[in-house]
Amino acid sequence: MHCIKRLATVMLLACALRLPAAIASETLIIHVYLHDELASVTEEALYYDYLKHWEDEMHAFTSQSIEVIYHRDIPGITDIEYAARNNASSTLQAFHNAMAELRFQHYPKAINKSILVTQNGYELLDNGKTVEGLAQFEGISAIASRSSFANLGHEIGHMLGATHEHAETVRTPLLVKCETYVYPERAWDRSNCYRYSDDNRQNIVAHLRNHQP
Ligand SMILES: [Zn+2]
Repeated sequence: MHCIKRLATVMLLACALRLPAAIASETLIIHVYLHDELASVTEEALYYDYLKHWEDEMHAFTSQSIEVIYHRDIPGITDIEYAARNNASSTLQAFHNAMAELRFQHYPKAINKSILVTQNGYELLDNGKTVEGLAQFEGISAIASRSSFANLGHEIGHMLGATHEHAETVRTPLLVKCETYVYPERAWDRSNCYRYSDDNRQNIVAHLRNHQP
């Protein structure tokens, strides 16, 4: 159910009550907004490919309770024309502003983070690379394309305090290198580690500790 702003307080309460009963005050809620262009993508597929490994990683170093809530078909949010903008900052700001209009959708006592997931990237740079995601550092809003299975873990990591400077590459048992979630530069000969660096794990733990409602 998507609540809209003009609904009365009683309906606002109804919205809150529709959230999973397991949500406690300290729960980290990831609100995933699927762009309209992903109408054929199921929530199960999105979770398995982009979020399950992230949630497993979070549970590897924190006991933080986590819920993922999906949102679709919300005019002004899931239909943002990001390709026409060709500007990642502008797209993130548009998403954030639209979210501010609907903030009461979010559980008031939990740690809410919102991410818009799109098919493609946001900005073609002069060097030929494309910006595939952007997040407010330690903020509440982010955007991420589906170009890499690690993109959501990367941008959610930024919202939780993880930095590029503290990311790293790790040599795997097969002697190839993998990139931790927030590593800034993708390379064709490196895989995804599907974990945060130890320093970024500490950053995330500190963020969650400091942002308990
Ligand atoms: Zn980044």
